[in-house]
Amino acid sequence: MTVELAALERWIRGFAALIGENTALLTRLDSAIGDADHGANMDRGMTAVVAALDREPPASAAGLLKQVGMTLVSTVGGASGPLYGTFFLRMATASGEVTSLDGPAFAKALRAGLEGVVARGKAEAGDKTMYDALAPAVDELDSALAAGVPLGDALGRAAEAADRGRDATVPMLARKGRASYLGERSVGHQDPGATSSALLVGAAAAAVGP
Ligand code: ADP
Ligand code: MG
Ligand code: MG
Repeated sequence: MTVELAALERWIRGFAALIGENTALLTRLDSAIGDADHGANMDRGMTAVVAALDREPPASAAGLLKQVGMTLVSTVGGASGPLYGTFFLRMATASGEVTSLDGPAFAKALRAGLEGVVARGKAEAGDKTMYDALAPAVDELDSALAAGVPLGDALGRAAEAADRGRDATVPMLARKGRASYLGERSVGHQDPGATSSALLVGAAAAAVGP
């Protein structure tokens, strides 16, 4: 099974829709440990992404992912704009000018995106960031594919891992971003970026899944 360009586009449009449905939740989570703008930031960015895709239908995986990354960098701002932007730009470079990716190639591109997030934000496991949802998902995808699980099911497992990673941010003490300014007071709250990242992986499973 491969991820066609159309499925990649479904993924991005599906993520935009999920962000739209969860804007209030993301803002509420960010109001507890940040500055109450994560929902608005992501919704502004993904609305602009959808408009860009409508205007200029991409011709390759790299073209699509680059368009997403550039649009997020230029419209989102804050911490999450450059982080999500870098995620998609690194994915674009790893994907190349192709119109379909097989499972390992898609997993490799996601891994490159995750490495971009780390290169930019220096987050480690347990810092209470989007990394804590993305990293377990990428790891789960790799191990499921290595075990011979078909891509659609492997992405389903990755989405479950992202949800568990998101939930695991609740007891964490924030060590990166605005939430880290709160110190101990960040404990007991779900990280907004981990929440949007779990939506991103869930959207991939929905777009490509069985
Ligand atoms: P800002 O904090 O600038 O208002 P957002 O509210 O849009 O930006 O995004 C906040 C989210 O960004 C956090 O919940 C966290 O998941 C993520 N984040 C912040 N700093 C980092 C970092 N250094 N590495 C990874 N993710 C980070
Ligand atoms: Mg914020
Ligand atoms: Mg902000």
